[in-house]
Amino acid sequence: MDNEKLSLPQYDIPEDIQNAVAITTLDRLYNWGRRSSVWPLMFGLACCAIEMIAAQASRYDMARFGMEVMRPTPRQADMMLVSGTVTKKMAPAIVRLYNQMPEPKYVVAMGACASGGGPFKEGYNVVAGIDKFIPVDVYIPGCPPTPQALIAGLIKLQEKIDKESIRKVRWYRKGPDTMEIPLPILGPDLIDPRRNAEIKMAAAETKEGA
Ligand code: SF4
Repeated sequence: MDNEKLSLPQYDIPEDIQNAVAITTLDRLYNWGRRSSVWPLMFGLACCAIEMIAAQASRYDMARFGMEVMRPTPRQADMMLVSGTVTKKMAPAIVRLYNQMPEPKYVVAMGACASGGGPFKEGYNVVAGIDKFIPVDVYIPGCPPTPQALIAGLIKLQEKIDKESIRKVRWYRKGPDTMEIPLPILGPDLIDPRRNAEIKMAAAETKEGA
């Protein structure tokens, strides 16, 4: 047990009992347990995924952060690591996977493509950032980010988890425990059903002007 992180820093616990005693808060215990076992969903979209794989291998070893158990099913994953170019064809599948992940869940956008479209921004087949569809907790810049940059981003995610409070987190609030995101519709272009009203209004204005 990493007693140092579990215990509150203001309490000076004698060295000989540090492995047996911790003085902490419920929030810290709750966050410490989750931040030390963030299991990523196993999928990669493009070249960034190679760096993600490198970060999992022995040299960088994400096991040091409790993140080595990459899950092939969203139902056992805590964190979606979007590593690579998000094409319009892939976006509905990503949103479906996100919806299938149980709370608490986090999203990391790895690299320029996942964060904003990267070198393919405004391309006919590329989404200009996965945050157009699902909420992103941490963005990692780079094309591709190095394994070190990925690990720095994951440490940022751990810091974010550290600041959460069990009394305020969304998954313990009354009402639906998770926010289901409507699947984007892939036609000639990708349509976000949440923007239907806006799309209809723009179409009506275009019709009037014609
Ligand atoms: S950000 Fe660069 S390295 Fe990553 S998927 Fe896009 S083009 Fe490839």
